[in-house]
Amino acid sequence: MSMIYQSTRGKGGELSASMAIIRGLSDDGGLFVPKTLPSFDFKPEEVSSWDYRETAFRVMRLLLDDYSEEELRQCIDRAYDEKFDTPEMAPLQKKGDRFFLELFHGKTIAFKDMALSILPHLLTTALKKNGIDRKILILTATSGDTGKAALAGFSDVPGTAIIVFYPKGGVSRIQELQMVTEKGKNTRVFGVRGNFDDCQSGVKAIFNDASMQEELSKQGFSFSSANSINIGRLVPQIVYYVYAYGRMVKQGHIKAGDKLNFSVPTGNFGNILAAWYAKRMGLPIGTLICASNQNNVLYDFLRSGIYDKNRPFILTSSPSMDILISSNLERLIYHIAGEDAAKNSALMASLRETGRYEITKEMEEKLADFYGAFATEEQVAEEIRGIYKETGYVIDPHTAVAAFAQDCYRKESSDTTPTVIVSTASPYKFAGSVYRAIQGETSLTDDFEIVDALHELSKTDIPAAVSEIRNAGIVHQTVTDIQDMPKQVLTSLSAL
Ligand SMILES: *Cc1c(COP(=O)(O)O)cnc(C)c1O
Repeated sequence: MSMIYQSTRGKGGELSASMAIIRGLSDDGGLFVPKTLPSFDFKPEEVSSWDYRETAFRVMRLLLDDYSEEELRQCIDRAYDEKFDTPEMAPLQKKGDRFFLELFHGKTIAFKDMALSILPHLLTTALKKNGIDRKILILTATSGDTGKAALAGFSDVPGTAIIVFYPKGGVSRIQELQMVTEKGKNTRVFGVRGNFDDCQSGVKAIFNDASMQEELSKQGFSFSSANSINIGRLVPQIVYYVYAYGRMVKQGHIKAGDKLNFSVPTGNFGNILAAWYAKRMGLPIGTLICASNQNNVLYDFLRSGIYDKNRPFILTSSPSMDILISSNLERLIYHIAGEDAAKNSALMASLRETGRYEITKEMEEKLADFYGAFATEEQVAEEIRGIYKETGYVIDPHTAVAAFAQDCYRKESSDTTPTVIVSTASPYKFAGSVYRAIQGETSLTDDFEIVDALHELSKTDIPAAVSEIRNAGIVHQTVTDIQDMPKQVLTSLSAL
């Protein structure tokens, strides 16, 4: 039996895994999902003896089954190597009575490295095995972290080029510097006068524009996406849930077969969706805590069954979660609608036209795996300070949102299942907010002075990703209006 991927909107045909990775987004505007989800063909007790690469292989081979063993192992070996600053790739840390899965040991010190360091290899391998002799143009909208992680992944990879759009003023200074100092010859970065949702809608519109596709085709390019809508992003994210489970067993915190909860800082719903897939494939997961910041559209949705993006967009200290349209939620909607593409399409049309939709009671019942909570800015700061005071461990604001959500869950439920907090960014990436949360207002204004001060506080090494940009030159300066995004793509093409 081989895996078939099809669109959540039902009009995209049937594709192999490698073709779905090449396409990124389906022609009908939908997202690719597996027609039937495979089950893990291993037992929970086996997992604890595997290292990260072996776990990656054992998980990914089930979902990307048209890659040969050799191809897949090669992609894995190229991705998960010294680019990570620890051989464990994703260390599990116990601090006080909490567990943190650190997903920020890659090149750009945020969890998106886990998937974006392997996507370029999956993609170039996919082109080769399908006999496609075209260059791939990656178009990416970023709320801060995807951008640099994608740039780092694709930088100077032959046969690829990448253009990144980020909301000007909507990302941290360190995030912006990481992107605009990118030196890869096949890279372009644009600030957009708008928010992340504008960037994402702009990129989606370019993808779906037939005349853009034609123009690109003339120049030997095909579009693809490095956004978390690409199944080449989603599949590698399932890996670390299995890996975390194995570490919890190995470190003696749970027995193989026991349930485990995860608290996931959520924005575009990719990370937590991967956990949900892991559960459906057979990993003993209990509750998935969906943690939001003040942009709490998912919290409201989980409570009411109504998704409504008609609300103010709030800039917070966890900018990678400042999102009102969680793209990957469409996959969940499709599944809980009973894999009914027509039903899903109608809801997505309603979202497009009115900014809201309401699911049926029957669908709502299928959301029982999820618990929603959100944290205000004050609660985030308090959480960072509290955990530091208690344990000396410093967490970033995104991780703090998840830690706070875990507190809410503890208070509201009688569930005593161990919970792993998914730690999605290094505190150094958001040094200003983290430092102020712990120390109160500071006279330090320079971000790098704050980095040094944070180093004193946390007694952890300053990651290379931060020290490298200290004195790097700015390469990308252009800021564009939303409506000029297609034009920027076309003008960039000839030099890429
Ligand atoms: C992207 C990101 C998130 C949100 O993940 P989604 O898959 O979009 O839900 C959370 N934290 C950090 C640090 C991120 O970069």
